[in-house]
Amino acid sequence: MRELIFATHNQHKSDEVARMIGDLYNVKDLSQTGIEEEVPETGNTLEANARQKARYVYDRVGQSVFADDTGLEVEVLGGKPGVHTARYAGPECDSDKNMRKLLADLANEENRRAQFRTVICLKIGESEYLFEGVVKGTITREFSGEEGFGYDPIFMPDGYNQTFAEMPMDEKNKISHRGRAIEKLVEFLRRMGDAQ
Ligand code: IMP
Repeated sequence: MRELIFATHNQHKSDEVARMIGDLYNVKDLSQTGIEEEVPETGNTLEANARQKARYVYDRVGQSVFADDTGLEVEVLGGKPGVHTARYAGPECDSDKNMRKLLADLANEENRRAQFRTVICLKIGESEYLFEGVVKGTITREFSGEEGFGYDPIFMPDGYNQTFAEMPMDEKNKISHRGRAIEKLVEFLRRMGDAQ
């Protein structure tokens, strides 16, 4: 079976993709490639980071690879924290500090519109393909829920009365930014497989 590398150290993420495309590709994460270091992501956009990570791995392994990058884009903050989502509260931050900073930044704001956006870069030889997944919603005023990770306790997707952290994981994955981007990637790979 053909192999496809996911440029991530997060096995949970690669398992999610393997569940969707496992009949066509053997999906491997970085632990199976000998790349142990963090893959650099120094770009100014999600697109640049996804490309950078895919190229970094391709240059070392020489196999088809895809990489993802995600940001939370808040309307009144002009799309921030965006590419800096993981370290919004500074280098020593964690999810709790990041969320507290965001709630403090929005304390006097009525407009709480925000979106999560994931960009995936698939690199097959010299060709690169980008896929995007977006989920729109609002930033709540308080934390709710225990599931998930990152900013889940303060993000309420449109059409729901629950934060991501109050939803069962399967339900979140169906509508999430990453879920949607992965769906597009998988659709593309299936079409490409049919064409061969
Ligand atoms: P990454 O590109 O997947 O590492 O995501 C960057 C940052 O965005 C993470 O460190 C999280 O803080 C946040 N993030 C990404 N996906 C999610 C999600 O599904 N829920 C909440 N936060 C997320």
